[in-house]
Amino acid sequence: MLEVKRFMTQQFLPGSTIGILGSGQLGRMLAVAARRLGYGVQVFSPDLDSPAGQVADREWGAQYDNIDRLKDFVKRVDVVTLEFENVPVETLNLLEKFVPVRPGPGVLEASQNRLREKSAMRSFGLPTADFREINSQTELEEGLVPFGQCGILKTASWGYDGKGQQRITPLDLPGDVWKNFEDQTAILEEIVDFEFELSVIAARNEQGEIVCYDPILNKHHRHILDVSISPAPQFSPELIERAKEIARTVMSSLEVIGVLCVEMFYTQTGDLLINEIAPRTHNSGHLTIDAHETSQFEQQLRAVCGLPLGSVEQIRPAAMANLLGDLWQGKLAPDWTIPLSEPGARLHLYGKPGARPGRKMGHLTCLAETSEQAEIKVRRIRDRLTPEKVTF
Ligand code: AMP
Repeated sequence: MLEVKRFMTQQFLPGSTIGILGSGQLGRMLAVAARRLGYGVQVFSPDLDSPAGQVADREWGAQYDNIDRLKDFVKRVDVVTLEFENVPVETLNLLEKFVPVRPGPGVLEASQNRLREKSAMRSFGLPTADFREINSQTELEEGLVPFGQCGILKTASWGYDGKGQQRITPLDLPGDVWKNFEDQTAILEEIVDFEFELSVIAARNEQGEIVCYDPILNKHHRHILDVSISPAPQFSPELIERAKEIARTVMSSLEVIGVLCVEMFYTQTGDLLINEIAPRTHNSGHLTIDAHETSQFEQQLRAVCGLPLGSVEQIRPAAMANLLGDLWQGKLAPDWTIPLSEPGARLHLYGKPGARPGRKMGHLTCLAETSEQAEIKVRRIRDRLTPEKVTF
């Protein structure tokens, strides 16, 4: 019989085993950090030979609603965390009866749905873009009026990297747009005229201690994060403090235990607006592996295991560029000797078998004297990995 446990403040020291829900690159980098500190790692997701599973002690290839397998899994782990926020809340509710689950189901519930997420942020007194719920073509037509017939329509659930969203201009017919969203609840957001996008990665442990990394500047391409830079020369000390204060409020209001990323817009009028939150490590924080005292992955481990949180101090200026499947020519991988020959360049590959356009296969971080130099360098190296376009 599986024992239902009651938890006091608990520390899970090296030698314990962490269970990770989700098995992508975020789980992989967490597993590597956990292994370095002597933890056991078990990964639960429907996939096999996954990026995280490849470096774990055990990979459970089972669906998130497979109760028997979940009950087996909790017997073998001391604490559960996640690397993917779309794990069903019911899965967390079940696991939580047996082991601590960090962050808990409440945090997931708030972040799995854009309407709930934005409403929660507003209820904490935090700024977001103006938005409304849309369930029909008529609601879309009415919703567009105050936004001057422009907006971004997003599915309320299951959206990421720009998937499930459409930008609307006065030239678009709401009826045509709505055809792509029918039968789903959607959110219509005003288009934010932003100067730049930034993110703050924060960690909080069970004792309520919070640390925030300085904000990271993010540049997107085709709605996917392309390059992240830290420290960003355009951030004033006042902006840095304001952004971190927003993240601290999110962490304490949601009582997050673990790591969470707050993505924000800095508008042309000097406002900071929350775009979305992710209750896990984030692509923009990958540069913390090579540039900071404590990586976001070790920080997650420390937070969920009740250890003292690590220093968020940055040691060297850095820029990170994503390596998408577009860099592959069919099955042929880019020439990795190029980044490997460059001092200050750190190559990270995720062990994914099939390269597809837009798929995150790895990333490259460059360290330099200044973040401008790091950005130039990381882009130059990645350009050299890019296959030449053949024109006929
Ligand atoms: P998301 O999936 O919500 O993170 O959106 C992906 C990217 O689309 C963001 O990083 C922005 O570059 C852009 N975007 C999303 N929402 C808005 C908005 N309301 N106004 C302007 N740009 C947006």
